[in-house]
Amino acid sequence: MTQPAELPIIGKTRFKEVQKEDLIDFWKNAEKKSGIKINYSERVDAIEPAAGKDGYTVTTNRATYDTRAVLLAIGRRGSPRQLGVPGEELPKVAYRLIDAEQYRNQHVLVVGGGDSALEAATSIAAEPGTTVTLSYRSGAFSRAKQKNREKVEQMKSEGRLKVLFNSNVKEIRPDSVIIELNDKVGRLRNDSIIVSAGGILPTVFLQKIGIKVETKWGDE
Ligand SMILES: Cc1cc2nc3c(=O)[nH]c(=O)nc-3n(C[C@H](O)[C@H](O)[C@H](O)COP(=O)(O)OP(=O)(O)OC[C@H]3O[C@@H](n4cnc5c(N)ncnc54)[C@H](O)[C@@H]3O)c2cc1C
Repeated sequence: MTQPAELPIIGKTRFKEVQKEDLIDFWKNAEKKSGIKINYSERVDAIEPAAGKDGYTVTTNRATYDTRAVLLAIGRRGSPRQLGVPGEELPKVAYRLIDAEQYRNQHVLVVGGGDSALEAATSIAAEPGTTVTLSYRSGAFSRAKQKNREKVEQMKSEGRLKVLFNSNVKEIRPDSVIIELNDKVGRLRNDSIIVSAGGILPTVFLQKIGIKVETKWGDE
């Protein structure tokens, strides 16, 4: 985990609104210019005080490192929350949107009511041949950004997206989904599902590495 003594200035780019592709290019360029070594697809499993010396021993799923300091920047999302319904293990179920294009000409169900769900649903609905349904267990998208809510409304009014409030997925089958809506159970044709139902916080990991977590409100 050695770093160059001084990182070069990457640029003076100021983003206002930026497409995902441009942002990824920006970060790739920053990585190249800075010389930072990034080990992709490597998960930190444990951080312990180094035996007999200052610093820490960091154990990942690939290797062990001795380091003087650790900067944690693991985000708050944790691992994706599952629905816990029969059929969820089918390969057509995903927990984040990688590429909207892959859903062209498919019947897609997006589950959730936050920004991830709304962004996934609207970007898939913008792809040709898609039939997209957004299922949310509550009666309004109160947690999502206004811009995303407006986009959903617009696509709904254009008939490109269907929204099912107060609905719950009961079962996932290879070519359909069983959904409860206002106490009635129905079947929806389905090729793919994206579950964007939030995440299980990384609290256990933080506690394991010795960080005291204070809960001000909520359960986690
Ligand atoms: C759909 C959506 C849209 C959003 N839109 C906007 C927007 O328009 N503008 C805005 O400002 N913000 C937006 N946000 C919020 C923004 O993405 C977050 O605030 C930001 O990503 C937080 O950055 P972070 O570096 O703290 O954490 P993250 O981006 O979550 O990064 C944490 C990283 O740590 C990795 N990690 C976690 N645990 C481990 C471990 N044990 N070992 C190794 N690696 C680990 C994760 O895989 C991840 O890559 C949006 C979020 C979502 C979900």
